[in-house]
Amino acid sequence: MNQAAALPTQSDEIVAIRGLRKSYGTLEVLKGIDISVKRGEVVVVLGPSGSGKSTMLRCVNFLETFEHGTITVDGRPVGYKTVNGTRKPVSEAENASLREHVGMVFQSYNLFPHRTVLENVMMGPVKVKGIAAATARDIAMRLLGKVGMDHKADAYPGRLSGGQQQRVAIARALAMEPSVMLFDEVTSALDPELVGEVLKVMRELAEEGMTMIVVTHEMGFARGVADRVVFMDGGVVVEEGPPGDIMVAPKTDRFRGFLSRHLSEEG
Ligand code: ADP
Ligand code: MG
Repeated sequence: MNQAAALPTQSDEIVAIRGLRKSYGTLEVLKGIDISVKRGEVVVVLGPSGSGKSTMLRCVNFLETFEHGTITVDGRPVGYKTVNGTRKPVSEAENASLREHVGMVFQSYNLFPHRTVLENVMMGPVKVKGIAAATARDIAMRLLGKVGMDHKADAYPGRLSGGQQQRVAIARALAMEPSVMLFDEVTSALDPELVGEVLKVMRELAEEGMTMIVVTHEMGFARGVADRVVFMDGGVVVEEGPPGDIMVAPKTDRFRGFLSRHLSEEG
């Protein structure tokens, strides 16, 4: 949808994570992560609970600090830059500006409960981008239509199903015209019958060329939509490759075991 608005960049690499290390106190949860995502690519991250997937995603829009390594989004440094060989924090203004280019949807608690669906989607463009309310309303209605939620524009989030709320959350993130969308287990808290409607919206976004990093346990989505699958375990990337290769013929026992547990769950 926003190909026309995308600014040309020198590189086709939208997200570059290099040597990322992060600890909580003495517990090192990311032990040197390298992930590269090109424009239009869909990277699905698989891995057991506690392997560091959410922490990695949260580092990409600097919701978490990190001790080592670098991350860039559209060539812009996230969190830190190197000045004369020294690692320096970037300003809060730079971080805020970066976050405008990174859309993120979480497992839950995405929407402001005391704002209508329409207000939730309009808020970013109006307050952050300074877009006129009438224009923001048009943008929001178009995006709500895209996720099949325009008929609920005036409803409050509490009146919506979990699947509807997640579709609005996706529309809200898209309203900022992000360079990349990050999804962290957005269907994990949903009743099974609501999962499909959210995955469908994500699949359509992928088909339109949106750059996406998707943490999920939905194996069908990984197989059908990912350009590349990254398997994390214990704070490292254990395997990565096209789903048709590594999900069919995993190279490590760890990934093979993970797949056999999750594929059998899906039946
Ligand atoms: P995943 O998303 O793969 O389940 P997380 O990134 O949430 O994994 O967590 C990785 C590890 O970091 C886990 O051991 C978790 O307990 C720990 N962890 C996550 N957030 C915090 C935090 N705020 N403080 C301390 N430990 C944390
Ligand atoms: Mg997580």
